[in-house]
Parts: sequence; C-alpha cells; structure tokens
Amino acid sequence: MSQEIHHFIGGRRVAGRRVRTSSVFNPATGEETGSLSLASADEVREAVAIARQAFPAWADTTPLRRARILNRFLHILESRTDELAAVITAEHGKVLSDAKGEIQRGMEVVEFATAAPQLLKGEYTADVGTAVDSYGVRQPLGVVAGITPFNFPAMVPMWMFPVALASGNCFILKPSERDPSASLLLAEWLKEAGLPDGVFSVVQGDKEAVDALLIDPGIAAVSFVGSTPIARYIYETAARTGKRCQALGGAKNHMVVMPDADLDQAVDALMGAAYGSAGERCMAVSVAVPVGERTADALIERLIPKVQALKIGPGTDPEAEMGPLVTRQHLAKVRGYIDAGVAEGAKLLVDGRDFRRQGYEDGYFIGGTLFDHVTTDMTIYKEEIFGPVLSVARAPDYATAARWINEHEFGNGTAIFTRDGDTAREFAHRIQVGMVGVNVPIPVPMAFHSFGGWKASLFGDHHMHGPEGVRFYTKLKTVTGRWPTGIRAGAEFVMPTMK
Ligand code: NAD
Repeated sequence: MSQEIHHFIGGRRVAGRRVRTSSVFNPATGEETGSLSLASADEVREAVAIARQAFPAWADTTPLRRARILNRFLHILESRTDELAAVITAEHGKVLSDAKGEIQRGMEVVEFATAAPQLLKGEYTADVGTAVDSYGVRQPLGVVAGITPFNFPAMVPMWMFPVALASGNCFILKPSERDPSASLLLAEWLKEAGLPDGVFSVVQGDKEAVDALLIDPGIAAVSFVGSTPIARYIYETAARTGKRCQALGGAKNHMVVMPDADLDQAVDALMGAAYGSAGERCMAVSVAVPVGERTADALIERLIPKVQALKIGPGTDPEAEMGPLVTRQHLAKVRGYIDAGVAEGAKLLVDGRDFRRQGYEDGYFIGGTLFDHVTTDMTIYKEEIFGPVLSVARAPDYATAARWINEHEFGNGTAIFTRDGDTAREFAHRIQVGMVGVNVPIPVPMAFHSFGGWKASLFGDHHMHGPEGVRFYTKLKTVTGRWPTGIRAGAEFVMPTMK
C-alpha cells in the first residue's frame, strides 16, 4: 500500500500541493510504499517565511533552554530508536542493526549540542588598552538549510540540525526523496521535546526545492551532503547568492595493508568496511591496497571465502549482514560498474551480479563483489561505485600506495594497517585525506570532533558537527568597550588601544 508522504512546516505535517510527485520503494521487495509530494519553489518560499518569523524568539531563547529541549529530544530518540530504525530500513534497505547504529551516531551529535551554553561561551580579554576590554560572542546566522543524501536518512540530518538549533538558528531540512520518512519522525519528536513551531521544518523535494533554497535571500547558510557533482554545484550557487556553505561530496577510500599488518584483523576490518550497508557509505573502503605481492596473495586468499559467505537479505532479517541497494536504478548502475571492471581487464574473483534471494526476487539485491589487479586508470578505480564492490590494487611499495591516495580526486577517508609506528606516523602526517585511520578501517570522527574530507570530498572550509559545526552555524562579533571613564574625559583622537 502506498502512503502519501508529507512536509513538516510550522509545527505540523502538511500535505504538499502535489504538483509533482515521486515514488518511494521498499528496496527489499521492490514494492512502492510511498508517494512523495515534491515541493514547488512557492512552497519552499512559504516554509522559509515561516522559519524567519520563528527566528527572533528562538535566537533570544537562552542557550540553556535550547539545550534542555535538545536533551528531551535525545531521550525521545533513545526510547523510540526501534521505531525510527524500522522506518529507515523500510525505505533505505539497510539491516536494522545498521539503522540503529546510524541513529546512535546521530544521537551523539544531539548529546554534543546539549552542551550549548559551554559551546557558545565567548572569549574575553580584559585591558586590551588601559581600561579597555574586548569580548567576542558567536551569534546565530538566521534560517539555515540542510540538504541530505539517501544513505543516512537520520544520521546526516543529525550531523547538522542539533548544532544549528543549539546555536539559535532555525533549520529547514530537504531530505533525500528516496527515503524521506525518517525526517518526519525527527521533526515530530523535536516538537514533542518542546521546540517552538517553525524552528525546524522539512520540505520534501528534488532539484526544484533545492534551487529554491539556494536562491532564497531568507536562507543564510547551506549544509549539503551528497555526490560530488551536486556538492560542487551547491557550493558554487550558494557562493553566488552570498550564502555560507559546507558541501560534502563523494569518496573513494583506500585501505593500505602493510606487509607487517595483522592480516586476520585487516581482513575482518575490510569485510565490514567494504560490504557493510552494501557499500553505500561515504566512509566505505572501496579500494584495498596491499603492499607487496606476498601481502596481496595472502589477503586475497583470506578475502575470497569471506566475501562468498556474506549473508545477504532483507534488512529485517536478523541474520543478514547486508541488505539490498537503495533503488532499481542504483542496482543497474552498480552492475554496470562491475561490467566495466571486467571489460577493462580487472580480475573478477567474486561476482555478485547473479545473487538472488528466494522470496525477494523483485528486491534490489546484489552480492558482494571482489576484483583483483585493479589499476589506477580503470573506471572502477577512479569513480565512486557506492555498492558492495571491493577493488584490490596491488602496490609494489609504501611510497606507491601513498602516491595513489594523494593523486586520487577524492580525499574523504583512508586507513593504514601496520604494526610499525614510524610508517603509521608518516602516513597520518603526510596523506592528503581529511579523516585517517591507523588500524581503524572507518575513522569516523566522534560528535565532539568534526567530520569532513579534503579535495573533491568537501567544498567549503568547515567540517560537520563538533567545534567546526559551531563555527559554521554562528558568526563572530567582537565588542570593544571602555569603562567607566572615556567620553566623560573629553574627546580623543587616537585609538584607545594605543594608550
Ligand atoms: P545525491 O547527490 O544524488 O543527492 C543528495 C541530495 O541532493 C539529495 O537531497 C537530492 O535530492 C539532491 N539533489 C540531487 N540532484 C540534485 C540536483 N541536480 N540539484 C540539486 N539538488 C540535487 O547523493 P545521494 O545519491 O543521495 O547520496 C550518495 C552520495 O552522497 C555518495 O556520493 C556519497 O559518497 C555521498 N555522501 C557523502 C558523505 C560525506 O560525508 N562526504 C556522506 C554521505 C554520503
């Protein structure tokens, strides 16, 4: 049965005008489960106007009171995790344990944001001149927008809005049109926690809604997470319209396996990092780089049976390690990459193209896939596949492995597995990537650090959440004052700091 999926504006679910709609599917069954109203530019403008009305009172609400609302929201999330996870699995396809994992990572950002009074504390210098003091405060920007991808329908919005709201901004979320329902639960629970109407809104939509947000003068800043071509477009357009912007893009994360690494540990790490969430993670490892032929042969020997034994099924199956891909189109795209890898001469060791799960023949399933002898000129090396496809690119030495990573277009995450501290330090210090793991395959920074890549994986200069998030969602004001004398002593024509 297909249900109408709404917006959330002005503190309630609002049926869209349904001028244009798109369908939402259950990826495990291929069934259409929802019909989404895509917001028109007019509907977006109305949502922005409502958020602007809510802004002055929210900005004047003390950080402590804002934090208390986020704290109540955190408790609701905690007690209703299962409900949210079920909604994520039904539209995204990931296994329930993974859906709960993403909620957990989102909750950690909410937890971080409940420290709003501490995070927003300014700086103060007494006596910058004689009897002259200076202090800096961080003030909210206004109404800010978040445009998010399909692969983390709860976590990525929660990278953004807890910090934005804690800082006194109003927030408009434009979720992915492929799994839009999680955002509505988040909106309802924020309201239940006491968030005033209009402070957080959800507009469902596609490019038309995004463009309307980008050009609306009522939007002060845009946070984006998605693919690199769209991230670049968002950043350029936002800059043209004078908005602050952080736009996170795609990835091609390499994991270097040195000859001295604990191979069993490296293989287990690779399995989770390459095939978890069907490879639909921006921090997934999609290229393994064993250094030396002996390391490569030993790695491959251990990987093959594990990839063949992957348990694949609907996200609701507690035994499943990996669910289906998100849409039929994406399935076709990933299959196309495997075809391209074969055509370009990579050695296909495990082929997931023929995977079928009985009873789920219309689902968007694909098996785990493993390529060996992938070279840097191949399409499957250069482009982001975003599926359960691991490429092994054999490097003759450490310097070559590091050079490949540094020369790649993307710089989101990377990891090295080694027992040698010197190599690990050299790697961490010099590698041109934003998030680096040492014997940690998916080095996602915790909520109180900041998340972001380098090169074509991030446009803008602020990473998400943590201290960078607070800086992104606030502007600095510096006040210089002189008490108690000053003008009473008569006019002066030199700068007070010079005295
Ligand atoms: P996507 O770029 O297709 O969509 C992201 C958002 O942009 C969605 O809300 C979508 O509606 C909107 N959008 C799509 N086309 C648009 C257009 N032409 N104009 C304006 N807006 C448009 O990405 P996706 O397929 O939903 O997500 C997967 C991608 O996201 C992968 O490339 C992945 O690496 C990336 N991602 C990156 C990070 C990170 O932290 N760097 C995190 C998660 C996902």
